Amino acid sequence: MVPTGPVEMWADPPFAATIKGDWMYGRGAGDMKAGVVANLFAMDALRRAGLQPAATVHMETVCEEESTGNGALATLVRGYKADAALISEPSGGKMTRAVMGVQWFQVKVRGHPVHVAQAGTGSNAIQAAMDLVPALRKVEDKWNARRHDTRHYGAHAHPVNMNVGKIAGGDWASSVPAWCTMDCRISIYPGFKPTEMQRDIEDAVRQAASGHPFLSNNPPEVVWNGFFTEGYDLEPGSAAETVLSRCHERIAGRKPVDYIATAYIDSRVFVLYGGMPCLVYGPLCEDAHGFDERVNIPSIRDATKAIALFIAEWCGVEPIEA
Ligand SMILES: [Zn+2]
Repeated sequence: MVPTGPVEMWADPPFAATIKGDWMYGRGAGDMKAGVVANLFAMDALRRAGLQPAATVHMETVCEEESTGNGALATLVRGYKADAALISEPSGGKMTRAVMGVQWFQVKVRGHPVHVAQAGTGSNAIQAAMDLVPALRKVEDKWNARRHDTRHYGAHAHPVNMNVGKIAGGDWASSVPAWCTMDCRISIYPGFKPTEMQRDIEDAVRQAASGHPFLSNNPPEVVWNGFFTEGYDLEPGSAAETVLSRCHERIAGRKPVDYIATAYIDSRVFVLYGGMPCLVYGPLCEDAHGFDERVNIPSIRDATKAIALFIAEWCGVEPIEA
């Protein structure tokens, strides 16, 4: 689950599902419980109309989309295949055209603990870890500069985000800290291998450490501890996209526009390893992963209608036998 952060920073309790006007507030409300219920509501809507899909529909709700992608991968390994997949992530009624890969890594620094009174004779692991961050920023800069080599990210000002997401170290205020671990996240464009980013990060850490008074003799360790995923571009014009696009148009009155995601989405599993087109299309969410995450309720209704029409057209429908 995506953590809430300090609960007092929320206007309403993060798990109260408070509704104000057209919006429901809560952690996971938009990213992505709303998508899951849109899928369920779509099947419900068909049943209410006395219809059922004339082909098999697998409904998957998986874990780990926020950390590895292994949940979706497990369904593929289990053998679940389809002519097309649809993930109802909160695209805000847009058609997701490109998705980035994400990598997680930890930088582990060991210090030399001494009494603070003799701090000069020790080495502060927290301070040394901080000294490595500018080198990681340079990798981020390098990859942002490469955005013009991609099909869809050239117009985006800063598609690659290196995030120091968590930092832990030391034991108490009166020893020079002996250890520090930084949890980081970076992303990579479609068509590039995570191993290329891995090499850049490891080289940057090695180089920065080699010029550092303490780290040169106490090299930090880089551990790849979660996401290690590729991105992809969705080839336009697949049969599934044509159908979903038409269904969206019936609800919204116009064709869906493209959404270029700077995050990871599980769709890469189906596209890259399952050989099936995967559409990412769903309700409208704001402040995902932030305070006061919210989902637009009318957008859930619209997504439900489009998904129900998509299932009906893609699978065909038949009357439910009494
Ligand atoms: Zn998310």
